[in-house]
Amino acid sequence: MVKYVETEVAVIGSGAAGMAAACAAAERGAKATIFEKNSRIGGSIRGGMGPLGIESHLQKEKHLHFTAEEAFKFHMDFTHWKVDARLVGEYIRKSADTISWLEGMGVKFTDVAAYYPGAYFTWHTVDYEAEKITDVLFVQAKKFGAEIYYETTVKKILNDNGRILGLSGRDNYGKDIMVQAKAVVVATGGGSGNAAWIKEQTGYNQGQDLFIISYPEIQGEGVRMAWEAGAAASPVTVDAFICLPDPYGGPGGTLEELGAFRQPNLMVNLDGERFMNEEIIKNPGLGGNAVHRQKNGCGIMIFDAPIKDDYAEYGLDYGLVNRPFRKGAPIDGIIEKARCEGYEHLFMADSIEELSAAAGIDARNLARTIAEYNAACDSGRDEIFYKPPKYLRPITKPKFYAARFFLSGYGVLGGIKINHHAEVLSKEHEVILGLYAAGNDANDVFGDTYPFALAGSSSGFCYNIGRIARENAAKYVQS
Ligand SMILES: Cc1cc2nc3c(=O)[nH]c(=O)nc-3n(C[C@H](O)[C@H](O)[C@H](O)COP(=O)(O)OP(=O)(O)OC[C@H]3O[C@@H](n4cnc5c(N)ncnc54)[C@H](O)[C@@H]3O)c2cc1C
Repeated sequence: MVKYVETEVAVIGSGAAGMAAACAAAERGAKATIFEKNSRIGGSIRGGMGPLGIESHLQKEKHLHFTAEEAFKFHMDFTHWKVDARLVGEYIRKSADTISWLEGMGVKFTDVAAYYPGAYFTWHTVDYEAEKITDVLFVQAKKFGAEIYYETTVKKILNDNGRILGLSGRDNYGKDIMVQAKAVVVATGGGSGNAAWIKEQTGYNQGQDLFIISYPEIQGEGVRMAWEAGAAASPVTVDAFICLPDPYGGPGGTLEELGAFRQPNLMVNLDGERFMNEEIIKNPGLGGNAVHRQKNGCGIMIFDAPIKDDYAEYGLDYGLVNRPFRKGAPIDGIIEKARCEGYEHLFMADSIEELSAAAGIDARNLARTIAEYNAACDSGRDEIFYKPPKYLRPITKPKFYAARFFLSGYGVLGGIKINHHAEVLSKEHEVILGLYAAGNDANDVFGDTYPFALAGSSSGFCYNIGRIARENAAKYVQS
């Protein structure tokens, strides 16, 4: 038995991009139907704390002056103009309106934050415990008449000579579904749950030199289906950042109780050599790039008891947004617990030799590096990487602490080439009529590194391109 469905705009995936597209299409009077393989709304967006907004009313109220022009110029310089400038501009310019649009739907933003000292205040955060943004959008989408089919995996986009006819899939009970639609929006969230896909597309080895936050339902299916329907390929990347492997990693790179590790203290590779100005760890994207170049993609952050006491007394150099470091955080207890659980990346020792042996660092080199580093701390001059004197804290007294950092990622980005109307392009650079893509599946605007200076860019791109996709899909089906 096949189930037949007729709609105007069929949306594949109910995450940030899919829900924004569905809600906005329905709002514009188009019949929107969402197909979601899960039994609930949203994929990786459920981990998100909020999108980017530029020139939003919330920023203006807080006197956070940062214009769309400045954001655009920053973004394009950061990406060396290797990304679609028109697409970047469209999403940045739309972002203030999208913040207001989300508020109008019932989303409550609690803060506008910057990811690190010196970054821009673009991150419109929601209370972590609050209702998810996608749930709020869905309530509205239903009011506008949108429908959702849960536990339904879309398998194929149907087209005839380049004209989109709909899609087909199967529900979790084995029933096939055929959907007739005038427009299809692909928003399946990338491929973070598919290690083979990640390896094939990016070269990273999940579990070895990459510890991406993996959502098993997100398999790269949208990108594959769009390619089969004639879409051109765009580069596939990971919005990667420096992180402890789970379960001690967190959105800021560590569990909040372990924030003392994500600070500008001594960092070495497995050879016991410094390799970066540790100040840059504040920007997890740049920190991740530096760590990934090292042996086994690994960098080890080291501090000692006096530094720990200093943090307990005066707070961290770099706070974690919305995740305050608690004074007297039980670091020793957490490391002890991690050790009992067999966790391999946190260490505590009474001597540098013992620490080297436990963490797998070349002991002689580490002793030499620490001697050199401590001399730089004494003189206040880092002649190798020019770290500012205020972050030059010597490593002198036990206990000694270490954590092995690697590369993590929020998701796999890109694959489907779109234009600034979110229309999918063919290999000949022609628009495939009726086919749109949004969110991670279509995000090739970050270049090779996630722009943490513009925090919230990831879901910001999804919500805004989702809205752009729906506007054009709604126009297309009504024309
Ligand atoms: C822990 C964490 C924290 C984050 N924090 C932030 C943040 O604070 N700010 C920010 O901007 N970004 C953040 N991000 C990134 C953000 O969550 C993503 O950019 C965003 O979720 C991507 O949205 P999307 O719509 O492309 O995909 P998703 O939200 O992942 O949604 C994709 C949906 O498609 C469904 N699907 C997949 N395949 C199929 C199929 N074949 N048929 C039907 N349905 C399918 C999936 O089940 C899923 O529901 C964070 C990510 C993580 C993991």
